[in-house]
Amino acid sequence: MPVTIADKLSRVRQRLADAAAEAGRPAGEITLIAVSKTQAAAAIAEAYAAGQRRFGENYLQEALDKQAELTELADLEWHFLGPIQSNKTRAVAEHFSWVHSLDRLKIARRLSDQRPPSLGPVNVCIQVNIDSEASKSGVSPDTLPDLAREVDSLPGLSLRGLMAIPAPTDDRARTRASFAALSASLQALRKLGLTGPLDTLSMGMSADLEAAVAEGATCVRIGTDIFGPRTP
Ligand SMILES: *Cc1c(COP(=O)(O)O)cnc(C)c1O
Repeated sequence: MPVTIADKLSRVRQRLADAAAEAGRPAGEITLIAVSKTQAAAAIAEAYAAGQRRFGENYLQEALDKQAELTELADLEWHFLGPIQSNKTRAVAEHFSWVHSLDRLKIARRLSDQRPPSLGPVNVCIQVNIDSEASKSGVSPDTLPDLAREVDSLPGLSLRGLMAIPAPTDDRARTRASFAALSASLQALRKLGLTGPLDTLSMGMSADLEAAVAEGATCVRIGTDIFGPRTP
């Protein structure tokens, strides 16, 4: 019998609960975002029926199309995870509660200016290129404090924390060290006296959620282990 999305979701929830217990943390402080990029709206509806409310998307047009198909589902919370081009900021500001992939001041300013006031500030995480990979999005850890100060001052944004994707490796200790480094960067930001809550560490995906939870993740972004492999 095929394993349903509801089954996979409950396995991921159990993994999260186990990882939290192992880390001596309350499971309730870790939010699960179901990453639905490339998956059909019907798959999102299935996860919704199994109780999931927060969904992450990387490609704007695809996300808007699915949002339009799913308007009858109440309380959906949309998280934007992908790179943002400046001509797309208005739609992101209007259609998402969260942006996890902020790494440029120009984009931050546009999101702030274009956020409809009635929606309240957009929750943002600054993406950090934690392993200094040439090909990866995100600010370098040393330029992070300057960008964080600027982002924190923008009225249309609420600076919630940091996001990172570690360099791919089979070495769990290295992945864990990358997560620990992100956690240390957040601790350092908390000493700057900023106004944003700085309560969020968005880290951990299907392959490494346990390591992320062990290092303090408050928000994990899981795609494959909920929806199955993505079709390109
Ligand atoms: C695709 C993606 C995920 C989900 O990855 P899985 O390995 O499928 O769980 C999480 N975060 C970001 C930023 C992504 O692009």
